[in-house]
Amino acid sequence: MSDWRKSARDYVAKQQESQKRQQEDRWRRKQQEYKKEYTKELVGFRRKYDCCVCGEPAEPDVVTKPIAADGDYAPSGEVEVAIWTSPHDRRQCTVCGKWACEKHIEAGICKKCALDLPTGGAANFHLSIRYVLLFWALAFLLIFFLLLV
Ligand SMILES: [Zn+2]
Ligand SMILES: [Zn+2]
Repeated sequence: MSDWRKSARDYVAKQQESQKRQQEDRWRRKQQEYKKEYTKELVGFRRKYDCCVCGEPAEPDVVTKPIAADGDYAPSGEVEVAIWTSPHDRRQCTVCGKWACEKHIEAGICKKCALDLPTGGAANFHLSIRYVLLFWALAFLLIFFLLLV
């Protein structure tokens, strides 16, 4: 094999090697970017979707999609992408509008709100106490005025 053939082949091999390294670098950077973005988004996501009863952190649905590193036309790998609008095991409470895990929501109402719901007897009881208090307040006022006159 003559020398010029070898130098031509070596040259191309070296070039391909360096191109591959660059591509790998770009891919690594891209992945780091995604990871940083993911962590940042997760904070806000949790603030919004964590269970309002037990505080259990919400996890976003995740899909895998092919992405290309910067400057590459062909996909150079797959990356896990979170769907930030889709917490898979959360329901929204129709009373307070907050989110709760499946264990703490029933018929669209979270446990916190359900405990505060006016249920038949209890509501009447509260109501009657209110009227008794109002009655006594008026009675006191009346006695007060009578004493004054
Ligand atoms: Zn919960
Ligand atoms: Zn609620």
